[in-house]
Amino acid sequence: MCGIIGILDRDGHAAELAFEGLHYLQHRGQETAGICSTDGERLHLVTGPGRVTNVFNPDVLAGLEGFAAIGHTRYSTAGGPGRENSQPLLADTKFGRVAVVHNGNLTNEHANRRDLVRKGAIFSSTSDTEIILHRLAHSRAETMCGAIEDALRQVEGAYSLVFLLNDRIIAVRDPNGFRPLVVGQKDGLTVVASETVALDLLRVDSRYEVGPGAMFTAFREGAFSIRQIQEPARQYQCSFEHVYFARPDSMVYGRYVNESRTIMGQILAREHPADADIVVPVPDSGNFAAQGYAEEARLPYRMGLTRNHNSDRSFILPSQASRDSTVRRKLNPVRNILDGKRIVLVDDSIVRGTTIRRIIRMVRQAGAAKVHVRVSSPPIIGSCYYGLDTKRTADLIAHTKSTDEIASYIEADSLGYLSLEGLRTAVEDKSNFCYSCFTGDYPLEDDAKLLQIERRHKVTA
Ligand code: AMP
Repeated sequence: MCGIIGILDRDGHAAELAFEGLHYLQHRGQETAGICSTDGERLHLVTGPGRVTNVFNPDVLAGLEGFAAIGHTRYSTAGGPGRENSQPLLADTKFGRVAVVHNGNLTNEHANRRDLVRKGAIFSSTSDTEIILHRLAHSRAETMCGAIEDALRQVEGAYSLVFLLNDRIIAVRDPNGFRPLVVGQKDGLTVVASETVALDLLRVDSRYEVGPGAMFTAFREGAFSIRQIQEPARQYQCSFEHVYFARPDSMVYGRYVNESRTIMGQILAREHPADADIVVPVPDSGNFAAQGYAEEARLPYRMGLTRNHNSDRSFILPSQASRDSTVRRKLNPVRNILDGKRIVLVDDSIVRGTTIRRIIRMVRQAGAAKVHVRVSSPPIIGSCYYGLDTKRTADLIAHTKSTDEIASYIEADSLGYLSLEGLRTAVEDKSNFCYSCFTGDYPLEDDAKLLQIERRHKVTA
């Protein structure tokens, strides 16, 4: 997960604009936030735990001078949630100072780390992003750009990156295009971001994707370049961005996320009809799919659960204990809507099953007569190795249980998942999406090794 942003602002307010933009990327991670800026001579860095507004205020931002900045919101995937893994990461190299933000996960992290440690590298974090900086620092290339290219040739997996140098920002996307990355420009301002909503907020209308394997560079003077530094490979755009992760008002991989979600709901209604009175979304993740379901099933769409927007997004908190209590803090069942009704309860996905189970109990206590659960994605049977924290395979309820067994565990009257074919149709797949977490088929070679490592952990855990 993680949200990343890069800003180049002729007027010299880059850090403030990065701060603004990070607000709209907050859903991609709330564990740490950070911004690094440059005034042309020095790089200034501030990172801290929590949300963007926990870390930054006008005084802190005033210390982040400069015409260019990069920023990050973190949800830990590789590496732990600890402070040492907060980003941007900053390094002094023979090519000069460089900072970087990363969304994704390197799949050959273990081999790279072992090799670098053997060669004398000292790591100061457990984050896979540091590998890129070490590879860059060891490069025999003559320029920073050459060193970045060199480093990227030695890593595999999912990476959308933005680098900050003294005089420029450089954005790169891996050749498989796993994670999104967009660029927008308007007079004197360049914005690179994980999602288009950050560009909406900064009122940058002209935008395009950083292509897979491409390097986008923007300079202080306003010049910019786009270069293909690696051959684009088979595309593996993350389907889960459209299912759950990205904001519905974002355009991801050239398609509005809300459109995909509405179609997921419509197909789900055709695949799994239910004898019911109303359709109720689990807010906010199930909203658009529930709307699509209701339209297709010709049932009333009712907000039978009210979300408290002042509580944290439940999955974001790392410990199970805090997650349980946040479900109760986050959602309140609306008795006069639910009482005596047979409901279709729509959510985007079931990961471990604990959240939906709790919600079903809540709606029953509020009087729901029947609870038919409909999920707008297929069962998640495998962990993600490309930057989503879907937990260890062993913790995924659909890895060990059949749909009937899950229905009885979560105490639903019935349970229906969207088919893989349905998901493909909804995202308008042109053989360019990744479905690994739903199929257990992993595109890159090293994943086989990762799976073995995971199995070993499982045995010893
Ligand atoms: P649970 O089944 O209790 O693990 O929670 C699943 C809920 O968390 C889903 O309904 C989503 O709204 C949300 N969710 C799904 N997948 C993820 C993920 N990879 N990371 C974070 N949250 C997720």
